Amino acid sequence: MAKRSPFEIAQEQLDKVAKIIKLDPASYEMLRWPMRELRVTIPVKMDDGSVKVFKGFRVQYNDSRGPTKGGIRFHPEETIDTVRALAAWMTWKTSIVNIPYGGSKGGVICNPKEMSKGELERLSRGYIRAIGRFVGPERDIPAPDVYTTPQMMSWMMDEYSKIVGYNAPGVITGKPQAIGGSRGREDATARGGMFVLREAAKKAGINLIENKENSHRKPQELEKLPDPQPKANVIKVAIQGYGNAGYYAHLLVTRMFDNVKVVAVSDSKGGIYNENGLPFNPVFETKTKEKTVTKYKDAKQISNKELLELDVDVLIPAALEEVITEENANRIKAKIVLELANGPTTPEADEILFKKGIVVIPDFLANAGGVTVSYFEWVQNITGYYWDYEEVYEKLDRKMKEGYYDTVKAAEGHKTHNRNGAYIVSVGRVVEAMKLRGWI
Ligand code: NAD
Repeated sequence: MAKRSPFEIAQEQLDKVAKIIKLDPASYEMLRWPMRELRVTIPVKMDDGSVKVFKGFRVQYNDSRGPTKGGIRFHPEETIDTVRALAAWMTWKTSIVNIPYGGSKGGVICNPKEMSKGELERLSRGYIRAIGRFVGPERDIPAPDVYTTPQMMSWMMDEYSKIVGYNAPGVITGKPQAIGGSRGREDATARGGMFVLREAAKKAGINLIENKENSHRKPQELEKLPDPQPKANVIKVAIQGYGNAGYYAHLLVTRMFDNVKVVAVSDSKGGIYNENGLPFNPVFETKTKEKTVTKYKDAKQISNKELLELDVDVLIPAALEEVITEENANRIKAKIVLELANGPTTPEADEILFKKGIVVIPDFLANAGGVTVSYFEWVQNITGYYWDYEEVYEKLDRKMKEGYYDTVKAAEGHKTHNRNGAYIVSVGRVVEAMKLRGWI
C-alpha cells in the first residue's frame, strides 16, 4: 500500500468515524480541513553576521470549543502536511479529555542542533513576532513539542508580553515554574497514561495493584523509592522509547503500581531485556551518561522490533509513529497497548488488534495528560493562583479517568475499538459546539 502522509491518515480516521456516526455533510467538510493556516518567513541574524530566512507555519484546526492549543516543533523536515495532521489530532485530544480548547500546531523548518543559544533565542522571538497577532491566551496557546524547550517558551512568552505591553504568561504553556509553569508538567504525559492504564487494566481483568500514596506524589520523591520486588501476580511491561514519555513511564509504572516489572526498554540505538525486571535508577543513569539504554550491563540486547513482540501484559510505544502495522500486529502478545507516542498503530493494525481482543488505549487519549496539565497551567496563569503537586495530579487523574470511560462507553455502544470510540466522543463534542454556535 502506498505510504500515506500524516494528514491523509488523520482524514482517513475522521472518514471512518463520520460513517459510524452518520456525520452530516457540512460538519464533515468543516472537520476535514483546518479553519486557518498561517505561513511565515522569519529573518534571523546568525552569529557569523549573515541573515538566514526560516520558514514557519501555524495551523489552527478548529476553535469551536475554545481557543486553539498545540505545540511548536523546530524540525529540519517540518512540513505543512505534518503540522495539519498534528493540529487535527490536538482538536480530538483536547475534546476527549473535555478541556475547553480547540486544536492547533506550529512548526519552523530548522535544525536546532546546529544553532547556537543566541540564534535559537532570535528564532523563537522572531517566530512569535511573526505569528503574534494570531496567538494569545484567548486565541491560540502554543507549547513545547519536538526540539522546543521550556527556555524557548520563556523567550516566546517574553516577546509576546512585549508586543502586548503587559505580562501575559497565559499565551504559552510548558514554561519553567519560576515564570508561571505548572507543577507536575514534566511528567504529565506519562502520569496521565498511568491513570488510564489503571482503569483499562481493571476492565481487562489484569490485577494491577495501585499504590495510592505514590499515585499523586511528585517524581523527585518517587525517584528516591526502591523498585518494587513483586513475587506474585507480576505484570510485565515493555516500553519503546526512552525520552520524556518513555523514561517517566518507566519511573511511574514501577512506583504507582506494586506488582509491575518493566522487562524491556529501548531507544533509537536498540533495546534491552531482563525477565527479572530493569530497575529505573541505574537504567536512567546509563541513558543519561552513555546517551543510550543499550549500554546497561545487566540485560540482554534486543531489537526495537523484538521488543514490540515480547510476551508482556502491557506494551507502551513511546517513541515513533507507525511501529505496529499489519505486518507485525498478529504477533503482538500484550493484553494492553498504551500509546504514549503519537500514531504508533496503523489503521490496518488497529483492526487486527481489535479482533485479537487486545485493548488499545489510543494515543490522543493515552498521552492527553500533557495538554491537560498545560490547560491547568493556563488556568493558573489567568487566575494568578498556583496549585501544589497533589492538586494537579488529583485533577489530572479525574480528567483522564473520565476520558477513558467516555471512550469505552462509545466503543462498546458502537461495537468498535477504543480509537473509534474516542473519535466518536471527540468529534461529537466538536460538532455539538459548531452547531450551538450556529456554524452548521
Ligand atoms: P523524546 O524526544 O524525549 O524521546 C524520544 C525517544 O524515542 C528517545 O529515547 C529516542 O531515542 C527514541 N527513539 C527514536 N527513534 C527510535 C527508534 N527508531 N526506535 C526506538 N526508539 C526511538 O520524545 P518524547 O517527548 O518522549 O515523545 C515520544 C512520543 O510521545 C512522540 O510520539 C511524541 O509525539 C509523544 N508525546 C509526547 C508528549 C510529551 O509530553 N513528551 C506528549 C504527547 C505525545
